[in-house]
Amino acid sequence: MAGTGGADSRRAAARVVVFPLPFQGHISPMLQLAGALHARGLAVTVLHTEFNAPDPARHLEFDFVAVPDAIPETVAANGIAKILALNAAMEASGHVHGALASLMASASAEREGEPRRLACLVIDSTLTATQKATAGLGLPTLVLHTGSAACFRLFRSYDMLHDKGYLPSTESNLDMPIEELPPLLVRDLFDPSKLPNKEIGQMILNLATETTTNSSGPLHKLIASTNGGDTSLLDQDHSCIEWLDSQAPGSVLFVSFGSVVHVTQDEFTEIAWGLANSGKPFLWVVRRGLVLGVEKQQLPDGFESAMEGRGKVIKWAPQQEVLAHPAVVGFWTHSGWNSTLESIYEGVPMLSRPVFGDQLATGRYVADTWKIDVLLDGVLERGEIEKAITRVMDENTGVEIRGRAKELKEKVRMCLESSGSSQQAVDKLVDHILSL
Ligand code: UDP
Repeated sequence: MAGTGGADSRRAAARVVVFPLPFQGHISPMLQLAGALHARGLAVTVLHTEFNAPDPARHLEFDFVAVPDAIPETVAANGIAKILALNAAMEASGHVHGALASLMASASAEREGEPRRLACLVIDSTLTATQKATAGLGLPTLVLHTGSAACFRLFRSYDMLHDKGYLPSTESNLDMPIEELPPLLVRDLFDPSKLPNKEIGQMILNLATETTTNSSGPLHKLIASTNGGDTSLLDQDHSCIEWLDSQAPGSVLFVSFGSVVHVTQDEFTEIAWGLANSGKPFLWVVRRGLVLGVEKQQLPDGFESAMEGRGKVIKWAPQQEVLAHPAVVGFWTHSGWNSTLESIYEGVPMLSRPVFGDQLATGRYVADTWKIDVLLDGVLERGEIEKAITRVMDENTGVEIRGRAKELKEKVRMCLESSGSSQQAVDKLVDHILSL
């Protein structure tokens, strides 16, 4: 007991600063990690940009410090360019360095008279400017990589992929298996040379690998109370839960493509008709800006009557609650890592349509290694969509995939038990932070 008391007082004397990249898929896991550290007795300060700032009122357990981001309006609308602009602006302004220096100075004069040593900074892997900002401060930095370990390994293999001729990809090698990284095919690689601005693509790839990783496990369930609502940047429409209550158990497909990917107008139309023609009930998240270049997208003419009340379209869902609902039997996702973990945690098999970056490899792993996902690649077309929906949801064809999703769910839940591997990983991380 004496030993535990010693550890407790060391924890109470330590504070951690976390700095997420200001996008939904990055803010949520960082705040979940912060919650897990706080639950183990560490104090937490969230350093954040003004753009996409988290809501302090939903996290009374943390302190919040805003850093001016100074991103030019012209780049604010472009997701990838914004990451680079954010880094450049932070580096040029020196605001992060200043904020960290003043946090370190005030750490010893904590509120309520409790001095707390600033033990370390935890940053998102794409915020290299923040890592540089710590220079000369003597503040250790840890990095949270918000994608899967497998994708991190892939991103680190890009030199090899070029050396062996897999990249740059060509129309004829897209289906070539990458022998060194099964089960990936060339089409699953994020190929910066195919982006309109290859330099930006390459720089993002470098950012994601330049810093190091220190993360694994379903962070969103490491803290008992989380349901996703507290870290959501957009208002979640809870009316869909009532609608799900009125649906038969195991009957609904949930469709959501996360917070950043776009679809073209043609793809949007094909998705709508694929869903309507499938004959299955569905809950579809059409967030503002989902269709490229369209501010307020319109559902196709005749779609509402074709749905015959089987479908519900909303702007933003309480996704974790939806996936946990007994009416939901499948999830059409863009293979974002958070969405993938949330689906696995609830034992919901997926239909996936990855769009860019790590989503491509994640979709392949989930389909070919874990076999709990039907991968929809190639041109999006209503007939193919309908077939894929049937494969995931059908009483007969979906049996195996649903069985494997349930098995994986059990494994994940074991990792989260008090002596499970995810809990042990966080304990180790806390020990490491205290040793810094
Ligand atoms: N999300 C949500 N409501 C929605 C759609 C998504 O709360 O209607 C949440 C989802 O639970 C997940 C995050 O947004 O935690 C999306 O992260 P992910 O890594 O899957 O994708 P990204 O948005 O980064 O592409």
